[in-house]
Amino acid sequence: DNDRPGGVAAKLLVSVRIRPLAAKEIIKDNIQTTARAIDDYSVCITEPTPAEGTDDFLQRTKERPKGRIYTFDQVFGETASQEEVFTRTVKGLIDGVVAGFNATVFAYGATGAGKTYTMLGTDTSPGIISLTLQQLFTVLAPPTTPLPQPTPTKTYTVTLTYLEIYNENIRDLLSGKSDYLDLREDAGRGVVVAGITSVNARSPDEVLAFLRKGNRYRTQEATGANEVSSRSHAVLQVLVGCTTIEKKGNRTERFGKLSMIDLAGSERAAETKNRGMRMIEGANINRSLLALGNCITALAEPSKRGKYVNYRDSKLTRLLKDSLGGNCRTAMIANISPASSNFDETLNTLKYATRARTI
Ligand code: ADP
Ligand code: MG
Repeated sequence: DNDRPGGVAAKLLVSVRIRPLAAKEIIKDNIQTTARAIDDYSVCITEPTPAEGTDDFLQRTKERPKGRIYTFDQVFGETASQEEVFTRTVKGLIDGVVAGFNATVFAYGATGAGKTYTMLGTDTSPGIISLTLQQLFTVLAPPTTPLPQPTPTKTYTVTLTYLEIYNENIRDLLSGKSDYLDLREDAGRGVVVAGITSVNARSPDEVLAFLRKGNRYRTQEATGANEVSSRSHAVLQVLVGCTTIEKKGNRTERFGKLSMIDLAGSERAAETKNRGMRMIEGANINRSLLALGNCITALAEPSKRGKYVNYRDSKLTRLLKDSLGGNCRTAMIANISPASSNFDETLNTLKYATRARTI
C-alpha cells in the first residue's frame, strides 16, 4: 500500500477540526471552551460547568470536571490554517486521483461547526476545494521546458459536476434546474448521474466561479438550530481523465474521480425543534449520514473488509459506491465548535468520527 502514489498508506483518514469561538460567543458571558486540541492527534472535551448557584452547579462541583480525550489521525486546533488542513488531509490523495484511483473527502459536523468554511472557505482564506484544485492543476501542468515527447503520450482532462442531495433527491447545482436526477452505472466512469451538467475546467478560478454560482441554488432554510441551516449534502465531483496514445496509435482512457462533500448538518432532527416537512428532511439527512457512517465503519473494520457493504441504503452512499472502499481513499474532516453551548453536538461528532475510525 505504501507504494501507492500519494504516500499515505491509510485508506481512511479521520481528522477533527475545531473552529475558533465566534465573537458573539465570546461576548455571551456563559460560553466557555469545551473542546480544545491537545496536540496534532488528540482533542480534549470537558463538560461545561453549570451556572454558579444553580442546583446543577452544586451537584457538579462536588465532582471534578472530567475531560475526555479522543484521538484521531489528525487534529486541527482553532488556529490551524486552511493550507495546514489541506496539507495534512487531502494533498496526499491527489496523485492517486491523477493515476486513476477514486478518492472522497467529506466535511462532517453540526450546522455552524465549520464544514463550509473548511471546504469552500472565503475569498481571503480559500478552503480545501480551491487548494486541491490548485494542486491538481499544478500536477497536471505540462513541464515549462519541453522535454522530448515521451511515448506513450498522455493527455489529461478535468471535468466537474456539482450536485446537492436534498430530501434523498439529487439536483444539479450547475444547471440551476430543479428536476431530480437518477443514478446510473457507466463502464468507464463508474457511478454517474444521468443528465447532469458536466463542465470542463481549465483553472482553479474557473472552478470556483462555477461553485459560487452553484451554491446560490443550494437549498437553505431557517431552522431552530441556526438562522440559515444547510440541510442538503453538496457534492463536487472532479473527474480526471487520462488518455494514453501508444506508439502504435492505440488509445486508452482511464478516469480518477475525486468527490468533495459538504455534508448537511449532523444535529439531530429532534434537537432543532423541527416539525412537519423539516422533520422528514431531518430523517432523510440522518438516513444518508447513518448510511455513510455504516459504510465507513464496515470499510474500516478488517473483519468486514471484502464483505457486503450496503451502499443501497441512501442516495449519498449509492452515489459514492465507486468512491469508498476498494482502491479508494477517504478523508473525513469532522468539524466541531469549541463553545460550551454546542457541547452535545460536539460530543456526538467526536463519537461519530471515532466510530468511523474503529478498527
Ligand atoms: P457549517 O457549514 O458547518 O454550518 P460554517 O462553515 O458556515 O459552518 O461556519 C460557521 C461560521 O464560523 C462561519 O461564519 C465561518 O466563517 C466561521 N468559521 C468556521 N470555521 C472557521 C475557522 N476555522 N476559522 C475562522 N472562522 C471559521
Ligand atoms: Mg455550511
